[in-house]
Amino acid sequence: MEIAYWNKEIETIDRDSLKHLQLKYLKETIGYALRTSLYKKRLQKAGITSPDDIKSLDDLKRIPFTTKDDLRESYPRGLLAVDIGDVIRIHTSSGTTGTPTVIYHTQQDLNNWTELLARCIIATGATRNDVFQNMMSYGLFTGGLGLHYGAEAVGMMVIPAGGGNTRRQIKLMKDFRTSVIHITPSYALHIASKLEEFGVSLNELALRKAYLGAEPYSENTRRKIEDLLRIDVYNSYGLSEMNGPGVSFECVYKCGMHTWEDNYILEVIDPKSGENLDDGEEGELVFTTLRRQATPLLRYRSRDLAYILPGDCECKRTHRRLSRITGRTDDMLIINGVNVFPSQIEEVIMQFPEVGHNYQIYIDKQENLDKLIVKVEIYSKLFTGDLAELEALKRRIKDELRASIVINPTVELHEPGSLPVFEGKAQRVVDKRPAL
Ligand code: AMP
Ligand code: ZN
Repeated sequence: MEIAYWNKEIETIDRDSLKHLQLKYLKETIGYALRTSLYKKRLQKAGITSPDDIKSLDDLKRIPFTTKDDLRESYPRGLLAVDIGDVIRIHTSSGTTGTPTVIYHTQQDLNNWTELLARCIIATGATRNDVFQNMMSYGLFTGGLGLHYGAEAVGMMVIPAGGGNTRRQIKLMKDFRTSVIHITPSYALHIASKLEEFGVSLNELALRKAYLGAEPYSENTRRKIEDLLRIDVYNSYGLSEMNGPGVSFECVYKCGMHTWEDNYILEVIDPKSGENLDDGEEGELVFTTLRRQATPLLRYRSRDLAYILPGDCECKRTHRRLSRITGRTDDMLIINGVNVFPSQIEEVIMQFPEVGHNYQIYIDKQENLDKLIVKVEIYSKLFTGDLAELEALKRRIKDELRASIVINPTVELHEPGSLPVFEGKAQRVVDKRPAL
């Protein structure tokens, strides 16, 4: 098979040269990190006061991990390493409107990010002649704009459709002969199930590839989507703290996601001890940015579990490959690609004096999409009152939740004592979604 590259030299660089490059970039990154209030303190404590204190890649281990809480506590500017005048865009993590994690970008940061996506796209065998329909949400969430710029750099015709509105998505795909889509696995299944209803057959479409990410899914789901839509599906992994998409992406061989190690140092650690694990061993992914100016992050704990696939890839890229994400080390839920923490939901509903102390977060599938139902117990006297008042209360809770978690839940009001009670640790989340 003829393999195409966006940047062959760097994508197939030998491992020794890659490590050399990583060391050079790590020193630069330390230089930027020392300009932030958070890292200045932390690095000094670890005896690092200048980039020259980093002599080898092993010195990375002297640096403590960075967590999502660090990012939240540094909000809004504690991790900004450049003059605010040099920042040209910000992004935040999906979901929360509480204190999000914010990532600043300089022009150079965005250029690097765009290059990574261009590499990913070319690695899947797509070309400038493809028509790319981006069905991820645009905005602060990184899924939309991230791929968008990469696809434009490749020279594809880009349809910035954003998420939702299935009828319009299908019409766009048909009318503009979309050949590559970027979409969540659940939305891909939903679209596949709606084609007939909207009177469109696969033969009328020109689809050939899909990039699927933002939420976990299995090999079986990949095959199911490939069969239903008669396309090739490539796994795409990223997190907003590491720019977003473009961290790890599958090549034409579809056997694990190459992680761009000239831009990120990837470590896999035992989440309990923090010790580094070997290739092939499953643990928590930890990333250090190597090319980021505005928001350098050192040893950022992703909370995602996966392992590095040992061995070489037939495509000759030397950047190591990641397995599927196999789980999380925290209780974060991913609902239609949007991150939600149960604690955020609790925070909102407990603001309402009408709400008792028990509630349940119930998640199921409806037409292949995730459906969130928040069941709350309210005081019994409210049930004897006016029905319109109950409806109004339901609406207020729903509106508050939507404003906070950015997804639209169904709210159910229940009599006291009707939801399951727990003597030990409450199990408030009931996830009925079949494993994807
Ligand atoms: P965000 O920071 O909002 O972009 O969300 C990033 C999170 O989405 C990651 O930490 C993962 O938990 C999840 N995620 C992204 N891509 C994938 C993927 N391909 N497979 C499984 N989970 C993913
Ligand atoms: Zn490969």
